Amino acid sequence: MRLSNLLAPTLRETPAEAEIASHQLMLRAGLMRKVAAGIYTFLPLGHRAVSNVERIIREEMDRAGAQELRLPIVQPAELWEETGRWAAYGEEMWRVKDRHGRLFCLGPTHEEIVTDLVRNEVSSYRQLPINLYQIQFKYRDEIRPRFGVMRAREFVMKDAYSFHRDEASLHETYARMYEAYWRIFTRCGLDFRPVLADSGAIGGSYTHEFCALADAGEAALVHCDACGYAANVERAEAAPAEPRPAGATPPGPAERVATPGVRSIPELAAFLGVEAQETAKTLFFWSIHGDGRQELLAVLVRGDRDVNEVKLKNHLGALHVQMAGADEVREKCGVPVGFAGPVGLKGVRLLADVEVMAAPALVVGANAEDAHLRNVQPGRDFSPGAVLDLRLVGPGDACPECGAPLQGRRGIEVGQVFMLGTKYSEAMGATFLDEHGQARPVIMGCYGIGVTRTVAAVIEQHHDADGIVWPASVAPYQAVVVPVNVQEEAQRRAAEDIYRGLQAAGVEAVLDDRDERPGVKFKDADLVGFPFRVTVGKTLAEGQVEVTDRRTRETRRVPLPEAAAAVRERLAAALAGLDPDRRPFTPWSASPAERATAGARERV
Ligand SMILES: [Zn+2]
Repeated sequence: MRLSNLLAPTLRETPAEAEIASHQLMLRAGLMRKVAAGIYTFLPLGHRAVSNVERIIREEMDRAGAQELRLPIVQPAELWEETGRWAAYGEEMWRVKDRHGRLFCLGPTHEEIVTDLVRNEVSSYRQLPINLYQIQFKYRDEIRPRFGVMRAREFVMKDAYSFHRDEASLHETYARMYEAYWRIFTRCGLDFRPVLADSGAIGGSYTHEFCALADAGEAALVHCDACGYAANVERAEAAPAEPRPAGATPPGPAERVATPGVRSIPELAAFLGVEAQETAKTLFFWSIHGDGRQELLAVLVRGDRDVNEVKLKNHLGALHVQMAGADEVREKCGVPVGFAGPVGLKGVRLLADVEVMAAPALVVGANAEDAHLRNVQPGRDFSPGAVLDLRLVGPGDACPECGAPLQGRRGIEVGQVFMLGTKYSEAMGATFLDEHGQARPVIMGCYGIGVTRTVAAVIEQHHDADGIVWPASVAPYQAVVVPVNVQEEAQRRAAEDIYRGLQAAGVEAVLDDRDERPGVKFKDADLVGFPFRVTVGKTLAEGQVEVTDRRTRETRRVPLPEAAAAVRERLAAALAGLDPDRRPFTPWSASPAERATAGARERV
C-alpha cells in the first residue's frame, strides 16, 4: 500500500473528547472516527489492527478445537423471555421493533440464540462436547459510553459457547479456553493477568477475567505475589478475621456518648480518640429483585472498610443493590443516617461482616441524633440476621490464601471465561439423551473476548509520547519505507525496490510516497507506530539505507540490497518474542471440590 493512496488521516492535535491514551491515539493515528456516542467507523489502519487480533483469536480457537459459526445480531424477544432476561437485562439492551410490532434486540450476548440452536440440533451425548464461536458486533446501550472502544455501544466481540454431558467435560474445555486465552493475549503482546471474577449478569458459578494491566483500566484487581492469588476486587474474598482473643476481659456495658455533628468515621475517630477500625458503620441498601420485590437492608462493616455491593447482591440473589436515601431510612426505621447503629435497630434486616463480629468492642451509632454508643460488643449487644464476608478487599489487606499483603493494580477486562452450568439449558429445555436414554440438561460454558477493546488495551500498554508502538503481531503494517525526498529519482527508485522486496519477503509494508517534508513523514510513521522504518536518504550515495526499530529507536545502516532481509530478520525476532510456546504457562487447575463451588480459588 502506498501512503499517498491510503485513507489514514492523522491529527497533530489531541481531540478534546478523548481522555485516555488509547482513545486519543486511535483518533490521532487515523485508526477510527466517531459516528455517534460509542459508535465508530474503523478506517483501513484500524481495521487491519482489529483483523490481526481476530486472526490470532481464530487461530487459537481453532487450535483449541472450537468451531466458528455466525449467529444473528437481531434476536427475537421470545428467546430472551424463556430465560427471563428480556425483563432482567435492563436499559443496556438495545431493543428494536419490526414493521409488525414484534420485539427484537440487537444482541448484547448470544446465550439464548446458541442454546436454541443446540436444543434443536443436538440430541445425543454422542454429539457432545461441542464448542461454537463467532466474531461479531455486539450492542450494549451504555448509559455513558466513553474511552473510545473501551466502553462503546457497538463493539466487536469473540464469543464462544461450549456444551457438555458432564462437569468433567466442561472443566476440560474451560482449561483449554483458559490456555487459548493465555496464548491469544501473549501473542497480542499484552501484559495481562487472569483473575477470579464475579459472574455478574451472565450467571453461572465460576469465572476468570483476563485483565490487561493498565492504569486506565476500569477493573480494580488485587493479587498476591507470595502465592499467586489474583482476583477482581468485586470478587476478592477477605482473609478470615482474627478471632476475638479467648479469655479477654469483655468491655464494660455499652455506653452512650454525645457526638454532636459527628457524622463521618474520620470525624468520629478523631472526636473520641479511637482508631477507625474500632468503630463500625451501618449502611442502608435497597435490594431490587427480578420479581419486582424491594427490601431495605442494614449492613454493618468496620469503620475503615467499605461494603462490597457485589457480594451483598450475590448473597441476596438480587438484580442489584443501591444505597438508600436518608429520608427513606428515617421513614422506615426512624433513625438518622450518620448516627444509625445495630443496637436496637428496628424495621430492617441487619447483615454484618464477619470482621465486625470478631471485634472485642466497637463504637457504633446510637440511632439518635448526635449520639454514639461505645463498648458495644457484637453478639452481646446486638445479633445480626446474618454474618458473612461483605467487605471490599483492597491493596494491603491480607491474602485470603496465604495472608501476605495483597497488591493492587488496575486492569482492562479483555476476556472472560465462565462456567455457566445448566442455567440456560434448563430454562430453555436444551437436553440430550445420555447413554442410558435418560434426558438431561446440557452443561454449558461461555468464553468472551472484547476484540476492539483488546486493540485499545494493546495501545494503552504500547505507546510513547510520539505515538503507538505496536507489537509486530497486531501492527496494521509491519514496516514503512520512507524516501526522504521523492523528487530525487534515485531515492524514489531505491524505496520502490525495498518496498517490493519487503512484500516478496512476506513483510506487510507501506511506502510513504507522499511529497511531504521528511519531518512530517517521520512524525506520521511514529504516530501510526509501524514497528520498522526503512529510511532512504542521503546515505544512499554510499549504497546504504537506515532501518529503525520503533520500540528501541535503534537505527542501523544496512546496504541497500540487504534492507528487506534485515527488516524480515528483525520482524521474525520481534514475533518470536511474542511466541506463547516460548513462555512458561501455568495451567488452570483447581481441585474438583474447589471447581464445584463459587468459593473456589485459583492460583495463577
Ligand atoms: Zn497469597
